Amino acid sequence: MKRVALHWQILVALVLSIPLGIFFGSEGLIDLSGVFSFMGSIFLNALKMIVVPLIISAIITGVSNISSEKGFARMGLKTILYYLFTSFIAILTGLVLVNIFKPGIISGVPAREVLALSSLTAEQMSALEGKGTNEIFTIFLRMVPPNIFKAASEGQMLGLITFSLIFGFFIRKLSENYKSVQLNFWNGVYDIMLGITNLVMRIAPLGVLGLVALTVSQTGFDSIMPLLKFALIVIAALLFHVFVSTSLMLYSLGKMKPLFYMKAMSKALLTAFSTSSSSATLPETIEGVTQVGVPKRVSSFVLPLGATINMDGTALYECVAAMFIAQAYGLDISFGMQLTIVLVALLTSIGVAGVPSASLVAIVIILKAIGLPDTALGLILVVDRPLDMLRTAVNVWSDSCGAAIISASENSQSNN
Ligand code: ASP
Repeated sequence: MKRVALHWQILVALVLSIPLGIFFGSEGLIDLSGVFSFMGSIFLNALKMIVVPLIISAIITGVSNISSEKGFARMGLKTILYYLFTSFIAILTGLVLVNIFKPGIISGVPAREVLALSSLTAEQMSALEGKGTNEIFTIFLRMVPPNIFKAASEGQMLGLITFSLIFGFFIRKLSENYKSVQLNFWNGVYDIMLGITNLVMRIAPLGVLGLVALTVSQTGFDSIMPLLKFALIVIAALLFHVFVSTSLMLYSLGKMKPLFYMKAMSKALLTAFSTSSSSATLPETIEGVTQVGVPKRVSSFVLPLGATINMDGTALYECVAAMFIAQAYGLDISFGMQLTIVLVALLTSIGVAGVPSASLVAIVIILKAIGLPDTALGLILVVDRPLDMLRTAVNVWSDSCGAAIISASENSQSNN
């Protein structure tokens, strides 16, 4: 019998998870939330288990396989420029929509009272700590971790990336006999990690089913209603970014048909959607772009970097959320304040980790920067999870577009 393709299996799991979450959640007919939680956790654990060795081996092999120092610098610069540019465009898209539709104003009055801005409990605050950046400068400090093993165990990818980049760079300076041993070793580790990724993906449909059913059973749909306008604006801006901004770039610069590319990336996008973690999705993203012919030397450099520093969906969300709260408080939002929001959203989106709800801490930083109480964050929590699922998929989409675009430009450069 022909096996159903994995992305279809994941999609079916996703659809089934909604009624399952409603009828078999903690308040449903039978409480199966423990089972959902187990299925989801085992899948997430397995993904997280792969991430550190995969990132390290991907970057080391990627960098050490780049033929010249000039090639390395050129690709690095292009990648970073692409990431900054698309994040900036994403933020602007959000900013324009939030200014036009003003979700924080209801019938001409700031929505503060209607929304009953609630404060966060100490427990919620402590759960958020360590997921994002407390200060903007810590982004730079994280690039040089004092202890790489601690960075690895805490999932501080930025530090691991710096270390792996330098490590890979110096492999190329070794004498021939040491160099070939190192190259063989790291290429082997990388292949092993891809093999393990394939294995883990076989349980993806069950993991997705557990994760989404649990979310549905916990959040429900009623609580989403009051914040619907805010959520719809975020969704519209995210869709615009995916189907217009990045698709145009993918088509014109990456020489790829956006819908074809989206189909090739469907497994990664669905995994991002259900795990809300771009770091955990990285193995899938690498697999997806490899299938459409992006060479390893590009994907292994561009994608781990992207999963860490390129978060278009996150940047967009941070901007819309901060503007929404400012509107709800009835603030007179000056140009200067909007500029601050844009810049801080850009910087913090580089620094937040690719894990669920990481944006929330970044939003606190923005609120502080413009002088609003961070208790307003309680408001966002209600709709955060479903929006997190979407923005994470957008983060992963933009990373994968980056891989195609950088690959096309590297090709044209080497053909010249
Ligand atoms: N969950 C997002 C990611 O992993 C980060 C965030 O926006 O909270 O990409």
